[in-house]
Amino acid sequence: MALTADVTLPNGKKVTVPTGLYINDKWVEGSAPKLDIVNPATEELICQVSAASEKDIDAAVAAARLAFKTTWGKNVTGFERAKLINKLADLIERDSEELAQLESLNNGKPVKFALGGDITDTIGCFRYYAGWADKIVGQTIEVDNKTKLAFTRHEPIGVCGQIIPWNYPINMWAWKVAPALATGCTIVMKPSEITPLTALKLNVLVTEAGFPPGVLNTVPSLGSVGGAALASHLDVDKVAFTGSTITGRKIMEAAAKSNLKKVSLELGGKSPHLIFESADLDQAANWAIMGITWNTGQDCTAGSRLYVQDSIYDKFVDILVKKAKEFVVGPGHDDNVSGGPLVSKTQFERVLNYIAAGKAEGATVACGGEKWNGKGYFVEPTIFTNVKPEMKIVKEEIFGPVLAIGKFQTEEEAIALANDTTYGLGAGLHSKDADQCMRVSSALEAGTVWVNQYNLLNNNVPFGGKKQSGIGRELGSYALEEYTSIKAVHWNFGEKLPWPL
Ligand code: NAD
Repeated sequence: MALTADVTLPNGKKVTVPTGLYINDKWVEGSAPKLDIVNPATEELICQVSAASEKDIDAAVAAARLAFKTTWGKNVTGFERAKLINKLADLIERDSEELAQLESLNNGKPVKFALGGDITDTIGCFRYYAGWADKIVGQTIEVDNKTKLAFTRHEPIGVCGQIIPWNYPINMWAWKVAPALATGCTIVMKPSEITPLTALKLNVLVTEAGFPPGVLNTVPSLGSVGGAALASHLDVDKVAFTGSTITGRKIMEAAAKSNLKKVSLELGGKSPHLIFESADLDQAANWAIMGITWNTGQDCTAGSRLYVQDSIYDKFVDILVKKAKEFVVGPGHDDNVSGGPLVSKTQFERVLNYIAAGKAEGATVACGGEKWNGKGYFVEPTIFTNVKPEMKIVKEEIFGPVLAIGKFQTEEEAIALANDTTYGLGAGLHSKDADQCMRVSSALEAGTVWVNQYNLLNNNVPFGGKKQSGIGRELGSYALEEYTSIKAVHWNFGEKLPWPL
């Protein structure tokens, strides 16, 4: 059985892509039924990919454990890890055009954004963590100057199960793989069953870079099979997950019921975006539209609840609607588009159901609200006004380009509306009053707050959620803590223990 497929990229070029499981440096057939991989811009089958069963997950975990004990983990220096990680960054840079095309084919996002955004950030992420690999150090702690000291070692935590979603397949891969490699962990990576193509291709580059067998194993699988097996595996030391809050809860439960493995979760959001009357309205409108349409709204920090001060409400909504109507939806290979399709039929139907619910609950459609006529999972950017706090479109994460706009009078009211959610991932505010920016950013219950901008992240700045948006942090030096375990060594160089006690 062939473990590759010939696919046609959005630019018309034909390439051969791997379609097997990658375990211990070998491509192997999965023992679960194959996955159909679909192009969301055309609804056509791209290829089929092998899927891991629980037994395959066991084999991948065993390979990762062996590598951790023999060739990776404490067997390599930080200098050696840095060298390999930098090499991998160079290879991703070399193949960035093909990776961007493949990402667009599988996920639908415009090639220009995959290349200039996701892949550029991914290369930066690997170089950033390569820089950390030889700087992961503990502390020397004074205990008693004459006879004792203690020191800490920040040791790699071990075998990591990493479960990633379909919205940023390459970026989420990088955020999880880069700090794990930098700290000396080994990995069993489960990409989304919807978008596994770039993770498989990236594994080829990991091998070419020279990482030892078993350091990174890639096992596409259904979440309820491979993901669940990783979360409950007795020989996995840590599970890192990005996806929905419902699945995050299951993962934490599985970790608790198995071996109490360390868990980090990046979950959903219903992020508020506040526009105060002193804001630069034209700029604020640009950020607000970008905040809800970036990645076709399939973004955990999508600014999906916009609250505008009443004194500027009508004017601001007019500017916003005019700009939203200029947004061009279309296939990812077209350089003129502002956004691509939703990732799958399921997601398409889910978003259309939310739009229908908004209409049924009495919100006003200020623009959009329709699907595109023809093939592909395209939805127009949709803005609802006259919304009420109890509406589904205000309370629930939609994960599509659907914005609900509300109104506030005072700063206190804006903060109360913004924080009225079980989530706490992102939040944004626009104001020219610096005191107000400081007060409001401090009061917002979110892991990330953007002031006079929205949705921009940096590899050296931590990212993660409060409340039901997650546990732990990715990016920055903070992510290293997720992949290390601290050992305290107490050293006696003089005290004699009297006997009997
Ligand atoms: P999901 O949470 O089910 O999937 C994310 C990942 O988790 C995938 O790799 C999936 O295979 C895996 N998974 C699923 N069930 C699992 C289980 N029981 N144990 C372990 N792993 C499991 O998300 P979805 O169904 O693809 O999307 C549903 C909604 O989730 C979206 O509409 C959106 O609201 C949200 N979502 C959020 C993010 C994010 O970045 N926060 C990403 C994707 C989806």
